[in-house]
Amino acid sequence: MSFLSAGRVNYPARIARAELLAARHPFAREILTFYLHIAKFQKEFYERLPKAWDKRPVAPANGNLRSELHLPILLEPFGRFLSLIEVCGPGPLAAQAQRLKVQGDEAWANALEGFWKAGLQESMCSGAHSGTPVADPLITFPSRAFLQPYAEFIAGSMLPPVTAMTVCRCPRCNSLPLLGVMRPEGDGGKKYLQCSFCAQEWAFLRILCAHCGEDREQKLCVHTAEQFPHIRMETCETCKHLLRTIDLTKDGNAIPMVDDLAAIPLALWAEQHGYQRIQQNLLGT
Ligand SMILES: [Zn+2]
Ligand SMILES: [Zn+2]
Repeated sequence: MSFLSAGRVNYPARIARAELLAARHPFAREILTFYLHIAKFQKEFYERLPKAWDKRPVAPANGNLRSELHLPILLEPFGRFLSLIEVCGPGPLAAQAQRLKVQGDEAWANALEGFWKAGLQESMCSGAHSGTPVADPLITFPSRAFLQPYAEFIAGSMLPPVTAMTVCRCPRCNSLPLLGVMRPEGDGGKKYLQCSFCAQEWAFLRILCAHCGEDREQKLCVHTAEQFPHIRMETCETCKHLLRTIDLTKDGNAIPMVDDLAAIPLALWAEQHGYQRIQQNLLGT
């Protein structure tokens, strides 16, 4: 299994890209403006982590990113983050943040620890037909958005795993992939999956469903919309799941997770055609 080197976390680039796409796509302005508030908070939080860590080893000794959560450095900034969502978030998210904020430290610790241990994976782990309730994006949003820089920071300090885990899940934190990313290599592109939580990428086969493992070419299709020529919608007829792949060979300036947020019309297309994303993005589209 090959990994990209650490150091890919680049909040200033995400912020600049969100500003550019908000200007380019009026339909995405509202969602990206909200994202900008979040990303600026995440940037500041991420930059403070090395100091907050205070010389303790960052990488978990057992190699599992989700093994421990260092609550003492999280509660105060989490309170500030909830206040931010309360002020800048769309109605339902603002109300959810406000509810959690007034409950205080203990409830915050429970929310963060619950998400850190379980993540979003309960929603899809045994497929769409398992009958397991889908994690409510409204409930998980504050913890997911807040802990993302923290997860990125820890993931960046970890060595690549020695044994390959199931390639459809993040080898660092076992979360589902958010996106495919096609990166220029040689004359073509090499495909990676990007984790929906810690944003690490791992190499993946081009012709393989990242949800059910289907590898028959006739069951796998690629669609693109004229508006977003650098975003491939890779669908699987066997499990009816869809992976958005950001093709950096077509637009080298794209920042995958930000371009994904801006591509709102693609969600409508997927819904109309009966495809479900393997994992929704931070803002639930
Ligand atoms: Zn991960
Ligand atoms: Zn499939």
